[in-house]
Amino acid sequence: MTATVETVQTEKVNLLGLSVDKLADFFAGLGEKRFRAVQVLKWIHQNGVDDFEQMTNVSKAMRAKLSEIAEVRAPKVLKQMDSADGTRKWLIEVTGGNVIETVYIPDGDRGTLCVSSQVGCSLDCSFCATGKQGFNRDLTAAEIIGQVWIACKSFGQLQPNGPRKVTNVVMMGMGEPLLNFDNVVDSMNLMMEDNAYGISKRRVTLSTSGVVPALDRLAEVTDVSLAISLHAPNDELRNELVPINKKYPIAMLLDSAQRYIENMPDNHRKMTIEYTMIREVNDRPEHAEQLAELLRDVPVKINLIPFNPFELSDYQRVSNNALRRFQQILLDKGYTVTVRTTRGDDIDAACGQLAGQVNDRTRRSERYRNAERAVRIVGQA
Ligand code: SF4
Repeated sequence: MTATVETVQTEKVNLLGLSVDKLADFFAGLGEKRFRAVQVLKWIHQNGVDDFEQMTNVSKAMRAKLSEIAEVRAPKVLKQMDSADGTRKWLIEVTGGNVIETVYIPDGDRGTLCVSSQVGCSLDCSFCATGKQGFNRDLTAAEIIGQVWIACKSFGQLQPNGPRKVTNVVMMGMGEPLLNFDNVVDSMNLMMEDNAYGISKRRVTLSTSGVVPALDRLAEVTDVSLAISLHAPNDELRNELVPINKKYPIAMLLDSAQRYIENMPDNHRKMTIEYTMIREVNDRPEHAEQLAELLRDVPVKINLIPFNPFELSDYQRVSNNALRRFQQILLDKGYTVTVRTTRGDDIDAACGQLAGQVNDRTRRSERYRNAERAVRIVGQA
């Protein structure tokens, strides 16, 4: 009889997504002091090193031990695309055959990285390409911070005297960040950590469509900047555009957001209101008037985003006239109002167009495609 020998393969710990405290715990488990965690953190996030052998201020024995039990593994870049306007987009493969998207938008001295938090999204906002892809899973902290690591490395930022290209991060890519709470908080902490990317809390923004209980919890653990994906000035319309509104209506959301802002140690900050403008849906003067009234006592700046059409959506882009009229009404009421210019159109990197490739566990994408096919067949009949 031949004896079978079973080898138990233990997974290596991926250090890329560990916050400084978690990394310190990891090293404490190896009998090492906290300074070792800080050394390794700097190698990973400030020097872009993923090979322990290159961490020359770590002892040889410790490097060998680390290679045995740990790794620094970023998700794999499938494709990097550069737009004529300087926007850069990455298609990034994550475990399970899914593909997420990350976008970098340069604007003068500022370079903003739009980071994804989930594979797809469960919330299905009616104007959003990600929502139409259905949902697969939350990204791990390594997959979230990995997007920042990949972007910074691609610009040579993680080298001594490398250019500081990624100055801002917005959690505004695929997914609802507050539905992946712990991993998003750990990743944002790494973005702000002095021994990692050192981005100021004013330049890290979490954007939410309104998961109110999680927003209430957020104030207890961080004070990053806040953006609310509002998109409608009343509940009736918002229920249609952002279905989570049926559970957490506008008044509840704004109350929670205001508590968050008031809790910040430097209470001069304003939240950003994101308002995607869709032709003849939410772009009328009465909508602007309602919005002005709704936000009267809330410290906000308003960002108007012209809708970017995509396959599977019947919505159309707002006209320039309607956009200007809407903006003017808000300006006249004393609001700060910016209009997001469309960037990276030639590489499908514009706002709301991120779709990636999602192995949809919810089968929502299939339902949308079937519905679209049925409409086409009826149209041809
Ligand atoms: S807008 Fe945000 S929350 Fe809504 S479906 Fe898209 S990714 Fe999800």
